[in-house]
Amino acid sequence: MTGDRVYLGAVDVGGTKVAALVTGIDGEIVARKEEALCTEKGDFLLQQDEDNERSVAWYGPASQIEGMLHRMMEEEGIDALSGIGIGSAGPLKSGAIKNPPNFAVSIPAGMPPSPLYVPLVEPLERAFRAPVTLENDCNTAVLGEAYFGVGGDVPDKESLHLVYVTMSTGLGGGVWSGGHLLLGKEGNAAEIGHILVKENGLRCGCGNDGCAEAYCSGRGIEQNARLHLVNNGMRAQSLLLDLLEEEAGKKGTPKQRSRWDLLGFITPQIVFSAAEEGDEIARGVIDDFIHYGGIVLSAIANAYDPAVITLGGSIAVNHPEIVPPMRSEMCKHLNVSSPEVRITPLGKRAVEYGAIVLAQRARG
Ligand SMILES: [Zn+2]
Repeated sequence: MTGDRVYLGAVDVGGTKVAALVTGIDGEIVARKEEALCTEKGDFLLQQDEDNERSVAWYGPASQIEGMLHRMMEEEGIDALSGIGIGSAGPLKSGAIKNPPNFAVSIPAGMPPSPLYVPLVEPLERAFRAPVTLENDCNTAVLGEAYFGVGGDVPDKESLHLVYVTMSTGLGGGVWSGGHLLLGKEGNAAEIGHILVKENGLRCGCGNDGCAEAYCSGRGIEQNARLHLVNNGMRAQSLLLDLLEEEAGKKGTPKQRSRWDLLGFITPQIVFSAAEEGDEIARGVIDDFIHYGGIVLSAIANAYDPAVITLGGSIAVNHPEIVPPMRSEMCKHLNVSSPEVRITPLGKRAVEYGAIVLAQRARG
C-alpha cells in the first residue's frame, strides 16, 4: 500500500551491527530489520581521496544497507524512499566512514591497507535516487532524544537544552542547545570521552592518559579490572576470578590454561556482577566508573548548562543503578544549577530515532 504516502529510511551503523527502518514522514515505524554487520562481502575500489592520497573504498556496508531497505520496501509494497538518514560510528569524512577502528574487514592483497573509506552517502543516493544524510552516532542520538525521547512532547525545540551521553564500549556525547545540534569546526563538538579527568591516569584508546573514557566505558572497565587483578598477582581469593573461571569454562577453553588467561574473559557484565556480590576489586573498578563518570558529567553540565543529561549505551541502559551515585558526584563540582540526569527513554535505539530525524531533514 503506497498511495501518495511519503516514506523514509533510517539506519544505525554500529561496529558490529546494522539496524534499518522504513518509516512514515512523521517517524511512525513501518518496518525494521537488524543484522550483524557483514565484513566479508562488498566491492573494493582503489581511489584518490581529497588529499590526493591513494585509498581504498569498500562498498560492503552500503550494499548491505541497500539490501535491507529494499527487502523491507518490497515486503511492504513501497516504491520509493524520499530521504535516508544514517547515524554511524565515526570517524566520518566526505559522506563516508574513514578508517573505522572497529570493523574487522580484510582488504584485498595489492591494495593499500589505509586509508580505508566506507562510502555511504553517494552509493545510497545512487541506489534510491533520494537525498542521504550521514551524521556521527552520538550527534544522531541527541537528535533522537530531542524529537522522540525526553524532548518528544516538547513542541518548542528551542526551549530544549539537553546532552545525550553514551556509555558503551566507549564514551561519547551529543549536545542539543536551544533549537539546534551543537557542531564544531569538524562536526566533533562533544568528544566528551576524552575530557581529562585524572592527570597521569589510565591510558585511553586515543593514546592519552587519564581521559574519562579510560574509566567510564566498557573498554575502561575491562582495562581497569585487568590492571587491578595483575597488580595483586592474580592471587587474591576473589569472586571476580571465580566468575572468570566459570566464563572460561562455558567457552570450553582447556582446563590446563593458566590463571593469567582468565584476563581475556573480563567483560563489563562480569565486573558488575562481581561488584554486586561484594567483590572488592570489582567494586573498586565500578566505583572508579561512577566517580570519573560524575566528574565528566560535571564538566558537561558546567560547559553546556543543559536541563537534562540522558544516559544511553548498553552499560547505562543495563545498569540504571549507576545514576544516583554518579549524579551525587557530579553535584560536588557544579557552578550551574544541577541538570536532571536520567537513563534515555529510547533504550538502545536512540541512534535509530535520530536517523529518522536526519531522514526528515534530508528530504527537506
Ligand atoms: Zn582519550
